[in-house]
Amino acid sequence: MISTQLVVVGGGPGGYAAAFLAADLGLSVALVDPEVNPGGVCVYRGCIPSKALLHVAKLIDESRHAKAWGIAFGEPTINLDQLREFKNNVVKRLTSGTGQLAKHRKVNYIQGWAEIVDAHSLRVKLVAGGEETVQFEHAILATGSLPAIPPMLKIDDPRVMDSTAALDLPDIPKSLLVVGGGYIGLELGSVYAALGSAVTVVEMTPGLLPGADRDLVDILAKRISQTMKSVLLETRVVQMKAEAKGIRVTFEGKAEAKEQLFDRVLVAVGRRPNSAIPGLDKTSVQVDSRGFIMVDEQRRTHEPSIFAIGDVVGEPMLAHKASHEGRVAVEVMAGENVAFAPRAIPAVVFTDPELAWCGLTEAQAAKEGRHVTVAKFPWGASGRAISIDRTDGLTKLILDPDTERLLGVGLVGPGAGELIAEGVLAIEMGATATDLKLTIHPHPTLTETMMESAEVFFGQATHVYRPKRG
Ligand code: FAD
Ligand code: NAD
Repeated sequence: MISTQLVVVGGGPGGYAAAFLAADLGLSVALVDPEVNPGGVCVYRGCIPSKALLHVAKLIDESRHAKAWGIAFGEPTINLDQLREFKNNVVKRLTSGTGQLAKHRKVNYIQGWAEIVDAHSLRVKLVAGGEETVQFEHAILATGSLPAIPPMLKIDDPRVMDSTAALDLPDIPKSLLVVGGGYIGLELGSVYAALGSAVTVVEMTPGLLPGADRDLVDILAKRISQTMKSVLLETRVVQMKAEAKGIRVTFEGKAEAKEQLFDRVLVAVGRRPNSAIPGLDKTSVQVDSRGFIMVDEQRRTHEPSIFAIGDVVGEPMLAHKASHEGRVAVEVMAGENVAFAPRAIPAVVFTDPELAWCGLTEAQAAKEGRHVTVAKFPWGASGRAISIDRTDGLTKLILDPDTERLLGVGLVGPGAGELIAEGVLAIEMGATATDLKLTIHPHPTLTETMMESAEVFFGQATHVYRPKRG
């Protein structure tokens, strides 16, 4: 039997960040997860492998784009086994690193599945066989999320894949249907499109990425219309049938063709919290109607000894949000007066162009009837964007017109995922349009679009002529 001050259930970016900080603060810590090393969904079958493949997709797309500048590389030859190995090695390298970090910190990493016994103990079914009992003062539940697959999209055929199966690169199908025009659908759809599949995306709402502002999405959608075969909006899949030649899919909605055959289908219609932890009912932990574990702003559940963090407690289901919550929960345990209260959580869709936003969106402001000023800087006016031949970008700031305070940032364009961090910092620091305008940004970089958007707010942007009215 192990006795520890803290046990963390789930070794994803939420769980391992929490375990590592707790060890750094001097607590005895056990971390339970079925994988060989910490990493969770994000590192083993999410953020990291998808970004390795997206990097390759970007290279392929850029080499095709180079034709326009007089440089022709020809069509790439793809060695799928080698590509898979590259991706697997990326995962191995990162997870062996997290394993080492756990060892250095003397975190007791237990490879297995946890079942809760009561508010101060749990049992771990060890992957190697046998069981281990862990008694704890505090526990953090960080069990993440799983793909949500509605019954009509669930058919027992390996050609119908979830994100995990798609990341395994079973082959490069001639035709691929992606169900869901959200993060996963667009990221993995882009990978397969670059590798040579004819990709069709079907999305039930009127637009891709329903949570993002339309002016940003329009720029991405235009590019996607060139790289993918088609995007079917306001359309649902109502039936899928496995046939020898492929998966026959029946659509309902705006799509003209009501039936089509695809070599493979990727279902990416969202994820559901993994809160069905065995024995959870033996505690006072409560779960809401959507399956999220209920927590307060310090990430305490209804059971005083148990905290919960990450995808299992709510949206947005993002790795950096999980890690931040994990650190907050540990600091609370350590007696600090802190809460999870970010002003801005960045969201990045790693397509080409990338799309990113943080803080208040324009759509959200409109929905809440909030009076805001939106200052936009089109990348067609950026020297850097023109020099890399990527003017398909836009930077916009959402500002309080009275205080000039920055409330939100939206970006689309290559590298938007890196640029958004400046917006997050600015919002967290309570920066105003003047602060951004007076901050000297390096030239020629895409970061200047942040500064020039602030200049647009004052009607004084150097590279766009948009005088302030009135
Ligand atoms: P998870 O990473 O889900 O980890 C939970 C862990 O708990 C898992 O290892 C699981 O096996 C383990 N577990 C579950 N039950 C038990 C139990 N009873 N006992 C022991 N262990 C248990 N987010 C981003 O921010 N950026 C991205 O680029 C990004 N890309 C993504 C791409 C894909 C394809 C997917 C699927 C997701 C992506 N995400 C991305 C989302 C990101 O992966 C999640 O938000 C993040 O992993 C959540 O972290 P977590 O710590 O809450 O849990
Ligand atoms: P998502 O919520 O991003 O997108 C799902 C899409 O599917 C939505 O646009 C929705 O309207 C649509 N949809 C739902 N049911 C449908 C149906 N029956 N037919 C057609 N369309 C349907 O979900 P996801 O893409 O599965 O990703 C899950 C989560 O994982 C994301 O919300 C995000 O939190 C996380 N993630 C993040 C990243 C990143 O940060 N870059 C990447 C991948 C995943």
